Amino acid sequence: MAGRITFTIIKPGAVQNEHIGPILSKITDAGFHIAGIKMVQLSRNEARQFYCIHEEKSFFEELIEFMVSGPIVVAILEKHNAVEDFRKLIGNTDPQKADSGTIRNMFAKSVQANAVHGSDSDENARKESEYFFSGFEKFFVDEKNCVQGAMN
Ligand code: ADP
Ligand code: MG
Repeated sequence: MAGRITFTIIKPGAVQNEHIGPILSKITDAGFHIAGIKMVQLSRNEARQFYCIHEEKSFFEELIEFMVSGPIVVAILEKHNAVEDFRKLIGNTDPQKADSGTIRNMFAKSVQANAVHGSDSDENARKESEYFFSGFEKFFVDEKNCVQGAMN
């Protein structure tokens, strides 16, 4: 069954260019509930841990320098079929290939500075959320509209 959370980062560049508000509006307009959100500055170690799956890629070192170049906004997003629907909303990794109206098409500057991250699986959505948020920092609305302070 498709999971109901995904994890996103508004990357440096998008933050510096004052795109936090417009990007969050696109996200909530698309039906996502923001279950946790904060602005942080990654250390090089944290950026390396977050993107360790890409360690062998030629673009890795430049990606790390970019991700530590300024503050980022991290958020947990909740919606039915969250991972897949959010990947559709952000569009292709390369903004030139991203469909018109997608977040990367609208706000990305390059393949590297592509405005946002979106988890690629339910398992990674959970891992990434747990990496950045403690139980006190995330709020999930269940079917009865009760606010819960921990992920089920
Ligand atoms: P996505 O973020 O769409 O899941 P990947 O997981 O493949 O894409 O890559 C992680 C991030 O690494 C991308 O969002 C982008 O910032 C950067 N990246 C990917 N491919 C390249 C590339 N060819 N050149 C520079 N940066 C890249
Ligand atoms: Mg990825």
